[in-house]
Amino acid sequence: MNPVTLFSLIATNPLSKRAIKKLLEKDGETTRLDKLLRAYAYGEDVDGEFKILRRLIDAGLKAFGGREDELKEKLRDAYWRRGFASVLRGIADFGIRKPFVPGAPFLVVWDLTYACNLRCKHCYSTAGKPWKDELSTEEALKAVDVLADAGVTALAFSGGEPLIRKDFFEIASYAAKRGMFVAVATNGTMITRDVAEKMKECGVGFVQISLDGKKETHEQFRGIRGIYDRVVEGIINARDAGLITCISTTATKVNYQDIPAVMDLAEELGVEWFMLYNFIPTGRGSFEIDLTPEEKEELLRELWRRLKATGINFMSTAPYYARIAIQEESEVIPTHFYNPKLEGRLRRLADFIGGCGCGRFYIAMKANGDIEPCVFFPLKLANIRDFSNGSDFLRFWRENDVLEKLRDKDRIEVCGKCRYRYVCGGCRARAYAYFKDYLAPDPGCVVAARLRGD
Ligand code: SF4
Ligand code: SF4
Repeated sequence: MNPVTLFSLIATNPLSKRAIKKLLEKDGETTRLDKLLRAYAYGEDVDGEFKILRRLIDAGLKAFGGREDELKEKLRDAYWRRGFASVLRGIADFGIRKPFVPGAPFLVVWDLTYACNLRCKHCYSTAGKPWKDELSTEEALKAVDVLADAGVTALAFSGGEPLIRKDFFEIASYAAKRGMFVAVATNGTMITRDVAEKMKECGVGFVQISLDGKKETHEQFRGIRGIYDRVVEGIINARDAGLITCISTTATKVNYQDIPAVMDLAEELGVEWFMLYNFIPTGRGSFEIDLTPEEKEELLRELWRRLKATGINFMSTAPYYARIAIQEESEVIPTHFYNPKLEGRLRRLADFIGGCGCGRFYIAMKANGDIEPCVFFPLKLANIRDFSNGSDFLRFWRENDVLEKLRDKDRIEVCGKCRYRYVCGGCRARAYAYFKDYLAPDPGCVVAARLRGD
């Protein structure tokens, strides 16, 4: 029998599902599962309860060609164990699907406020002043509890400018204390040395700073003269404080020519990540500045060349980036959220990891608690204030009808017929922006254009 089918059978039989659910129950501050995985990772004795889990792990390693010593090493990291628990909950709740649906989002991007000190031309959230109904400190801390109890692995604070909120450090350190990996997306202008140190101390692990081109282009984009130098200083301060630092650039007609220069700067400054954002015409971002599919393709090929040639994670939120990797027959399959080096049979995992992660690996939350599939996707699904605990949130995650549709790549128009649908599936937010239909094709992909016969 094919090892993936065998794994599927073992993982989804009622006995395994029952055992997983039992292990996911709370045991003091953590779960029984976390304790067992930790003991397994450090080679300690694990009792009888571990038997079913062991069978599952062995079958999974065989199916996907992974190595036990590597898995053990990864599971020594608490965030990996949290993510692993979410995978197991996903198996119990959704079975083994292509692409895979975890039992809780791996990532929640939370626009903490819409207050901002800049007025960027392409801002997805039309930020400037804070909204009147933004979550109070108390409500924000409660939201952290709900998400932590649901088993969310990582929380990324965005905005507006999240550092403007006076209670930013209180909320961020509480999220870190509750066991979630904490990231921040910022315009970088407020990251002095002290702020960078404070971020590090309060448990922030990853900082993404936007830079949209050379000095003139960036300042034209951001609407304020003299801002460029402050952003570069912010990047250096974050890097020097030991935060994993990422430069992000949104690709549009306005800055297209400048993007290779920003990639050069990322290499010069030695940051760990460069993220090329796929432009989505929403908020203040107008349709006129969207690139053609061919221009996007050219940029992604350049990004790919750099990913292969440097130690920097040159990544993109464009889901077709994974398609390019497969076309190049690479063992690296970069996706929006992860850059796995998939050797041998592990490549089979690519179909399960999938491309667009909205409503599947990730979900977005607005400053007033509204929950949407993605930050670029203005479709309210719920509000965090409606949930009194993690179980309420998980019920929503399991049962929401829109989420269910977004997870099914076969039903997407045009993309559903594409051989890359499980690793890509097109950007659902772009389809929604263009056609008000999230199951329409993504108009930014050269393959979609070919399949449509354009
Ligand atoms: S046609 Fe759709 S699924 Fe295929 S590569 Fe393009 S965007 Fe991705
Ligand atoms: S809809 Fe999907 S591909 Fe598009 S930005 Fe959101 S997560 Fe990324």
